[in-house]
Amino acid sequence: MIKTTAVIVGAGHAGLAMSRRLTERSIDHVVLERGEVANSWRTQRWPSLRLLTPNWQTRLPGHDYAGDDPDGFMPAADVAATLTGYARLVGAPVRTATTVHTVRAAPQGFEIHANDDVLRARAVVLATGACNLPAIPGVADAVPPSIMTLTPLAYRDPGQLPDGGALVVGASATGVQLAGEIHRSGRPVTLAVGEHVRLPRTYRGRDIFWWLEATGLLAERYDQIDDLTRARHLPSPQLTGTPQATMTDLNTLAARGVRIVGRLGRITDGVAQFSGSLANTCALADLKMNRFLNRADEWAAASGLHGELPPPHRFAPTRVDPRSPLELDLRSGEITTVLWATGFRPDHSWLDIPVRDRTGHIRHDGGVVTRAPGLYLLGMPVLRTRASTYIHGAAADSEALAGHLRSFSAAGADGYRKHARPHS
Ligand SMILES: Cc1cc2nc3c(=O)[nH]c(=O)nc-3n(C[C@H](O)[C@H](O)[C@H](O)COP(=O)(O)OP(=O)(O)OC[C@H]3O[C@@H](n4cnc5c(N)ncnc54)[C@H](O)[C@@H]3O)c2cc1C
Repeated sequence: MIKTTAVIVGAGHAGLAMSRRLTERSIDHVVLERGEVANSWRTQRWPSLRLLTPNWQTRLPGHDYAGDDPDGFMPAADVAATLTGYARLVGAPVRTATTVHTVRAAPQGFEIHANDDVLRARAVVLATGACNLPAIPGVADAVPPSIMTLTPLAYRDPGQLPDGGALVVGASATGVQLAGEIHRSGRPVTLAVGEHVRLPRTYRGRDIFWWLEATGLLAERYDQIDDLTRARHLPSPQLTGTPQATMTDLNTLAARGVRIVGRLGRITDGVAQFSGSLANTCALADLKMNRFLNRADEWAAASGLHGELPPPHRFAPTRVDPRSPLELDLRSGEITTVLWATGFRPDHSWLDIPVRDRTGHIRHDGGVVTRAPGLYLLGMPVLRTRASTYIHGAAADSEALAGHLRSFSAAGADGYRKHARPHS
């Protein structure tokens, strides 16, 4: 039996940031990782993926981007290399190839089963990521078996798809990027569009993430957001990171020949049925984008930057073809692939502590897991601020949670009894 104060599960950016924070506080700990450091970026991302956040924003505690392309967008392989270097920089005590099978409550702490080892720790940090599994709608069961179906976790490049048309379901960051890439391979692409977040890549000469940060939007705290559940489930913005910083919205995809249809609602007898509210869905996304651009302009004016930046402007509304089909016969041979770009979900199936709500999500207050003293969650969308969704958000989140963990573990057995409520 191995005893330590804290166990961090997962050596992605979140787990590594937490390791750095615990080291700063001289809290002994170990990071358990089933693969290598940055395993998700090595094994679960398609090779052409680039971050949609600019390089300058890839900041972690004790690490700032120091390359020669701060306004560029890092390919997945570079993210893996950056995190590997970061693990070395902070001396993270990572045990690779160590899969956590079970975490359960034990007297004054937790028992962790990993490979063939058993560890005891007073605190456990769940940093296994928000995107371990694909979120696939139930309608997937009705896709005719002749069609190849896959998710972004299995997608590598268009060469793995059969010839013929592809139906990409979902038009957030992943969907628009993969629709564009598959279309460039010469395959006809139909993109089914549900609720989405439209944002321009750049505005008034600055990257949109500069604006999201400058206006304070990313700093909005979880306990000040009106509809937190909704904020935590918002689709990722329709953005891609390309070397040319191009805009990848529905207008640019449609201009290139991607067929845009409404949300995939049902598949009946092999016929896919799309929502007729595409125009409304797009109008709403345009409205929300313009609302944010108004906020950006107001902020620029109030900050005295108005004159230094190019003048405000607005983007063309999303053009919706009134002839956009409402049905597509998936048995006709026109579509040979369906790609589910419908989002991701975390996998905490190995957590044997009753801390989930009725929807299966872990109940937590800004990353402090509810009714399980010593259990922490990191790397989730809008965990403590809107920035938590992105790599750089782990800096502040890990600082706050490491502070909490230190007070908790320093309180000792008496403190434990004082803080502790039953794990159920
Ligand atoms: C397609 C995609 C694009 C993204 N683009 C951006 C972007 O442009 N900018 C940005 O800031 N963020 C982006 N993100 C979001 C975010 O940065 C990632 O989700 C990030 O990988 C989450 O980091 P993490 O450290 O929380 O989890 P991960 O990087 O997923 O790390 C979790 C680690 O835990 C390990 N693990 C899981 N289960 C176990 C277990 N049972 N035992 C031991 N180890 C385990 C995994 O192997 C993995 O290494 C993107 C996410 C996705 C999916």
